[in-house]
Amino acid sequence: MVRFLIIDMHTLWLIGGVIALATAGALVFLRSLHHPSTTALGLHALALALGGAGLAAAGLAPDAAGSIVPAIADTMIAGSVMLACEAVRRLFGAAPRPALLIALLVVLVAGCLGFDTLRSDAAARIAYASVLVATVSSLTAVRIARARDPSAEPLRRLLVAAGFVNALVWLLRSGLAVDALGLPEARIDSADAVEVVAASLVVLLPALVTALILMTVHARMADELRALATTDPLTRLVSRRALFERGKPLVAAAHVDDRPLAAMMVDIDHFKRINDRWGHAVGDAVLRHCARQLRDGVREESLVARYGGEEFGLLVPLDRASDGFVAAERLRHRIANRPCQVGDARVSVTVSIGVAIAKPQQSLDQLLAEADRLLYEAKRGGRNRVGTADLPAGRADLALPVV
Ligand code: GH3
Ligand code: MG
Ligand code: MG
Repeated sequence: MVRFLIIDMHTLWLIGGVIALATAGALVFLRSLHHPSTTALGLHALALALGGAGLAAAGLAPDAAGSIVPAIADTMIAGSVMLACEAVRRLFGAAPRPALLIALLVVLVAGCLGFDTLRSDAAARIAYASVLVATVSSLTAVRIARARDPSAEPLRRLLVAAGFVNALVWLLRSGLAVDALGLPEARIDSADAVEVVAASLVVLLPALVTALILMTVHARMADELRALATTDPLTRLVSRRALFERGKPLVAAAHVDDRPLAAMMVDIDHFKRINDRWGHAVGDAVLRHCARQLRDGVREESLVARYGGEEFGLLVPLDRASDGFVAAERLRHRIANRPCQVGDARVSVTVSIGVAIAKPQQSLDQLLAEADRLLYEAKRGGRNRVGTADLPAGRADLALPVV
């Protein structure tokens, strides 16, 4: 017989138990940091604590016949896998099934501890618990195989694989898969090859699954933080920071392709009066309304950002440089012609726009500063108009009448 491990089975279980308990403690700490996955992390921490205590009990259990400790330890370990499966299901948005989980745990506990035959016969008990665990583990793998997780697809697939491997490991322990695979029969009383491999995996899989769960939670958190940093929560437009990040390559590409690019700074006229007259909530609705009009009023490839309080910054690729003024006028008309309806209130809004066309070698900062200067001109010229340097002098009042 090949010796796979120098340590004996009891020591292996004890080490696995201590590791699982320590990890459970770490998860309880992390759980408080990540609100959306609190339930899944809490359930997994509970699973690790139960399984860790079970493994430690199995490690410390006396070999003496008639002891109840091995039966309790086996039940705790099997129960912990069921809890971990529920944690993974919840991590991927499955509906809670507390009744089913409790029913499975009752069937497990009643079977392993309630019947004399199972309580005293380790092989029969392990076969019974293993079949239950393998079934729950496979069903969990099937359930999360149908889920989608844009933040952590490879991790989700690994968890599906871990679910099926876990089911196979427990079937090996049960002895049912042993015949099918032509492996030597597992014996509980001595550590033969199958038992050592299966028991090692029972100890190692929780650590692996915990790592995958934490990586999934972390990947989602990183995506959320990225979205928070680049999206304005009120208007769902990109933030000022993202305008600079994503705008630089747009300006560079415009220079390389020699394609005209317009920068527009848009500012709502007398917005303070809207807030003062209708209240801050209506003011917010007007901001969302203007954001939507701007987004819908330009091509998909354009960047539309909330630049500040009631200011928006746009980068709009054009076919001809002369289209910049027309595009800005179209936006101004679009907003002036569509009052914002908030409940019973119908709020008329106008905007002033500064529009500048990117010149060769001009940086994004310089381009936006130019558009900002032209916005100031439009405000000074009486508001509800477009300021541009690309019209002959004295024609800045070309502003089309609002109909
Ligand atoms: P102008 O035509 O010269 O641009 O006048 P204005 O009143 O639009 O400009 P001003 O800078 O005096 O006021 C802007 C106001 O926008 C002040 C501020 O309270 C309001 N504001 C900024 N952010 C928000 C927001 O997120 N929600 C609401 N409701 N108001 C905001
Ligand atoms: Mg304003
Ligand atoms: Mg302003």
